[in-house]
Amino acid sequence: MSECLFCKIGDGEIPATKVHDDGAIFVIRDLNPQAPIHLLIIPHLHVETLLDLTPHDYTLVGRIFAVAAGIAREEGFDADGYRVVANCNRNAGQTVFHIHFHLLAGREMGWPPG
Ligand code: 5GP
Ligand code: ZN
Repeated sequence: MSECLFCKIGDGEIPATKVHDDGAIFVIRDLNPQAPIHLLIIPHLHVETLLDLTPHDYTLVGRIFAVAAGIAREEGFDADGYRVVANCNRNAGQTVFHIHFHLLAGREMGWPPG
């Protein structure tokens, strides 16, 4: 049995409200939101870091951005804009080692990011 938090949430072993689940990619609200809208777009496939992606996974990563755009249109923050962020390893602040993409919206964001 997997010890991975996001595998457990993806499998339904840990309950969470999924905003989206198409069998390959699911979306949940972040437990500790950093913006009025803070979603996590997560592939069901367990890949520890962005460094572990292979060419076989590239279509899946492309679909992450299509899911983000779809949610932005559905929830009506497409025109105002949003940010998609993925943290890789320590310096970027990765804490869960199952790749995920933060979808942040609902406020203006600074650049460069902290
Ligand atoms: P990272 O720091 O790895 O880029 O992002 C991990 C994110 O997962 C953090 O923003 C954190 O708030 C979120 N998170 C950690 N545990 C849980 C959880 O059990 N449920 C949800 N919905 N989010 C979580
Ligand atoms: Zn996992």
